Amino acid sequence: MPRTRSRPDACPGAWRRHDAADGALARFRPVGGATTATELRLLAGAAAAGGSPIELTSRGSWQVRGLAGTTADDLADALRDDRPDALVDLQGRDVPCSIIASPRSAAVDPVAGAVATGLRGRVDVPGRLLVAIEDRTVSVVRGGSERSFGARVPLTPGVGDVSGQGADVTVVINGPAAGPPTPADPAEGLLDDGAALLLDGVDTGLRHADPAALALAAVDAFTAHRGSAWRVRELDDAARTAVLAALGAATTPGVGTLEPGPADPTRLGADGTTLEVLPRLGEVDLPTVMALLELLDRGATLRATPWRTLVLRDAPADAVERLGGLVETDPASPWRGISACVGAPRCRKSLTDVRGDLAAAVASGHVGGQVRAHWVGCGRACGTPGGRVAVVEAVETSGTYRTVVRSGKVNG
Ligand code: SF4
Repeated sequence: MPRTRSRPDACPGAWRRHDAADGALARFRPVGGATTATELRLLAGAAAAGGSPIELTSRGSWQVRGLAGTTADDLADALRDDRPDALVDLQGRDVPCSIIASPRSAAVDPVAGAVATGLRGRVDVPGRLLVAIEDRTVSVVRGGSERSFGARVPLTPGVGDVSGQGADVTVVINGPAAGPPTPADPAEGLLDDGAALLLDGVDTGLRHADPAALALAAVDAFTAHRGSAWRVRELDDAARTAVLAALGAATTPGVGTLEPGPADPTRLGADGTTLEVLPRLGEVDLPTVMALLELLDRGATLRATPWRTLVLRDAPADAVERLGGLVETDPASPWRGISACVGAPRCRKSLTDVRGDLAAAVASGHVGGQVRAHWVGCGRACGTPGGRVAVVEAVETSGTYRTVVRSGKVNG
């Protein structure tokens, strides 16, 4: 829906904090969710000083609450010094917006990195913009069977991961190291003409051989025509047409239409050496951090996902056992698809202790495992994930809620 913004966006980042009831809130946007052991240790240490766990957001970012000013600066400095190419660079420049990527794919890492390099330090990119890079060669489920890593797999409606998050710019690649196509498969060739571009979660039909260049071109076209808009969905018809015209000159028309993936592609549990786990309410406490650090020290790598899970690649064989009881690992967990804003007492606008109410509801067996839901303490609905979701909103201080079904909204 077209929308005119009267002020620039104020999304918190590493250097721009949000003043919350419990102190400064800083957000760190790891590229594609990739987080090193040192970064995890620094984030958890700063969060512990503020009396909170670190939190996952609906954009695959980390959030630290309750920071004093000097603590926040020290944390950003330490993150910058540790890995200039990741969260904060040597000039202290944060990546201006969130970049999410298929968490199970090593092939997508360099693409996400190239997009981050192209965007870092740009002041014309709104913090609310969301860029997604999807690799559909990974874990594509078709006809009840599963293919994975390395094989060239044709695109099929209903599969994928980050393409279902309703990002402003989504690029879907068929694998930079793609092997020969499968001649017998009628769907083969859908992306032989290059990576596909989706805007606001919808296939534009535009293709380009270089996925990073395609994503950056789309951001350029958006920023050139956005006016005061923060998101692609806020463009009016004229601006949307101008964006597509600009992109059309630099791309080629594709074959077929690409369907985005599911809004909640969570796949808890182990799949070979890849393990996906779900911290309840997106909160990662110190015992969990310690267990994760031990696994990272033994060769695993860590990705935060926009569906508020953690994906460990190259996880040791005992990883599920090591994390057992700390996070959800069972695919049938009632916590799957359930999230909440921070609520009272950490947000002064909240009508109630949302997370406490939700935990009690899940424990009672009345909530969880059925409908994807996000509980919030007021109508701002912070942190609502992308895709179709039931927003359960507090309407009284007594803990009374109403449910609204929303689609494709991401605030967090
Ligand atoms: S939705 Fe309302 S109560 Fe929840 S964090 Fe946002 S402002 Fe606070």
